[in-house]
Amino acid sequence: MIEILNADRCTECDICVRICPTNVFDAVEGGVPVIARHSDCQTCFQCEAYCPADAIFVAPSRIPLRPDSPLRDEDALLAAGQLGLYRERVGWRTTPVISPAPPTAPLPSSTIDYHRTVETLHRSTS
Ligand code: SF4
Ligand code: SF4
Repeated sequence: MIEILNADRCTECDICVRICPTNVFDAVEGGVPVIARHSDCQTCFQCEAYCPADAIFVAPSRIPLRPDSPLRDEDALLAAGQLGLYRERVGWRTTPVISPAPPTAPLPSSTIDYHRTVETLHRSTS
């Protein structure tokens, strides 16, 4: 499910609002979209793949994560370079990352490794 929409990175393009197949987001005039219907997320990763600012993180879970899950820790995920990583792993990142955060841990080398990494992190704390 979508867990993070980083307001600092977001450029308010509203692509995520338009691309989401289950209408999870609400656009905000002159502002950052809001995750208005979290429970409607079907974990399709399209918002993360399409976001040109790497502002979104979708956790590989079809149920909401616990509030203390590390996969909801925005600062830690930013520091680990996890926001927009799915976009990179599917080959859609063609421009430099906006406001890059240096990774503090080795990054997975493939989409499969990416999912294994976040799933392991999720399971170890749930
Ligand atoms: S696609 Fe990304 S940059 Fe555009 S509004 Fe959504 S979160 Fe912000
Ligand atoms: S993961 Fe898919 S369903 Fe969930 S918010 Fe993003 S685009 Fe919508």
